[in-house]
Amino acid sequence: MAKISIDIKEGKIADEKDLIIGIDLGTTNSLVAFMKDGEPIAVKGKNGKGTLVPSVIHFAKNGKVIVGDQAKEKLISDPQNTIYSVKRLMGKSYNDVENHQQYFGYKIIDEDTESLVKIRVKDRFYTPIELSSFILKELKQRIENELNRAINKAVITVPAYFNDAQRQATRDAGKLAGLDVLRIVNEPTAASLAYGLGLSKGDNQTIAVYDLGGGTFDISILRIQDGIFEVLSTNGDTFLGGDDIDRAIIDHWIGSCNIDRDSLHANDNLNQEFRLTAEAAKKSFSKNDHFSKILNGYHLELSKSTFEKLVEPIADKTIECCRKAVKDAELDISEIDKVIMVGGSTRTGLIKEKVSQFFKLEVNDDLDPDEVVALGAAIQADVLAGNQKNVLLLDVTPLSLGIETVGGLMDTIVPRNSKIPSKVGRQYTTSIDGQKNLRISVFQGERDLVEHNRKLGEFILKGIPPMPAGLPKIEIHFILNADGILKVKAQELRSKVEQEIEIRSQYGLSEEEMAKMLIESIQNAEEDMNIRGLLEARNEANNILLSAEKFLKQNDKILTLEEKNITLSLAEKLKTAVAGDDKDLINKTMDELNEYTSPLAHRAMDVNIAKAMKGKKVGE
Ligand code: AMP
Repeated sequence: MAKISIDIKEGKIADEKDLIIGIDLGTTNSLVAFMKDGEPIAVKGKNGKGTLVPSVIHFAKNGKVIVGDQAKEKLISDPQNTIYSVKRLMGKSYNDVENHQQYFGYKIIDEDTESLVKIRVKDRFYTPIELSSFILKELKQRIENELNRAINKAVITVPAYFNDAQRQATRDAGKLAGLDVLRIVNEPTAASLAYGLGLSKGDNQTIAVYDLGGGTFDISILRIQDGIFEVLSTNGDTFLGGDDIDRAIIDHWIGSCNIDRDSLHANDNLNQEFRLTAEAAKKSFSKNDHFSKILNGYHLELSKSTFEKLVEPIADKTIECCRKAVKDAELDISEIDKVIMVGGSTRTGLIKEKVSQFFKLEVNDDLDPDEVVALGAAIQADVLAGNQKNVLLLDVTPLSLGIETVGGLMDTIVPRNSKIPSKVGRQYTTSIDGQKNLRISVFQGERDLVEHNRKLGEFILKGIPPMPAGLPKIEIHFILNADGILKVKAQELRSKVEQEIEIRSQYGLSEEEMAKMLIESIQNAEEDMNIRGLLEARNEANNILLSAEKFLKQNDKILTLEEKNITLSLAEKLKTAVAGDDKDLINKTMDELNEYTSPLAHRAMDVNIAKAMKGKKVGE
């Protein structure tokens, strides 16, 4: 039977095709875009004002929640009840943000340092997911008003370095806002799509996406090959952006006008006026060479050349990140084909020049740098709607994923920098006779011992039919979907018993932590390798000891007393070695035991086979 959709708002039969919208959920500003006649456009506010919706939420006295420009105005008059930069808290625990508490003007709850952060507003507690959902609802409302129809499907962008928990949190925020989030897309990928890159077959190139916003800087190196986007590397600074330029200008004025810093900071309103004036000065240099204004009796002046001196150290910091990103991507600068500029701060001429000099390329800045990510998200949405073929998205995992094996060793299943989506499987078995359950603990990180890595979750494969150790065949699959969300599946192949979990880590890793984990893994590589060697030797020795014990029991009648005694004493020697820390001694003693018992095992096998031929049971 055919289904008919009715647009309740319009009271008419709805368009057959769902419109999927593209959303850039930003730290400072967010916006929504959609495809109209084959072109992406960003949606303006009611009064035809700009396309940007400040990512600010205000909780008014009457219980109303206000998002956007009006909420931004409350940052000064009612800071306690006005939330900004919530994106910085997505998928984070209090531990993660503790050092930045002073950055947030509102109350972050610190009762439980391990679990996800909550924000207190009046006497209610909100999660970053709920707060982000208010912004998403506002964007949904904006486009519904514009198009006069209900919208319930979206693509949302996130930074390329966002981990699993942060992506999940973004997806959940969408759900709460009444949106079915069909895809989480990396911001640099969306920016490239907005410039039409990767949309045609054979369009193979390497792209640097330079994104300098109000408070964050990201550089991503992407490779596009046959419609596949691969993030080769990312770098950046989560506390570097246009706000730092504004602060540098204010500091300059404090010096040049002899202003008392403390009294300025103590006066919220004046402070804010200075901030707005500094921002206006900065923006004016896109057109003019000189800025001057009288504020509160101070004659504030700034020439373009002084401005550029203030911007230079900030620009240089970003260039350092670019250098690292190119290195991490294992590329030479000459291998970068295009540079795309994203974020309002890339409007500053000096920034463009520096980036252009570094990459030795003209930068792509034709599109509005504030809109480019949302426009790309709309294109991605269009691709998902089936309107553009041949486009696929592929990213890489920033850290290795694996499981814990005997002795606390990390067995990497999906190595760092693997392409996603991907599905990787590996076979395991049990280590104890008759083992019915197998605990599968999933970890993320580069170290050899799981205790140094981050646990993402665990589950127990139950109901393995009792079998001797080593016989069950347990296949473990890691399935990473296009959003970078991990599913782990375990199946005992003989009995088909299976279990699976979707990994929803309790909270995410900041990119600083991620970098720290990588550095530690390099610094400790040698020690880790030694420990791994020792643990592996111990595991192997324990298995051999178990087999030797079994062998003696099963072949009691075949072996001479001397053979049994020598085997037992070699086994004792191995047990002593296993209790120590000398990997070489364990290996040597293991070899001795093996060498001695191997001819005995052959003889025992021959005898058993002969017995079996006579119709007797093996092993008797
Ligand atoms: P975004 O986070 O991408 O919205 O970027 C906002 C940042 O861009 C703020 O720091 C703005 O001050 C800055 N910005 C906007 N317009 C300009 C301009 N014309 N010149 C320099 N910076 C700008």
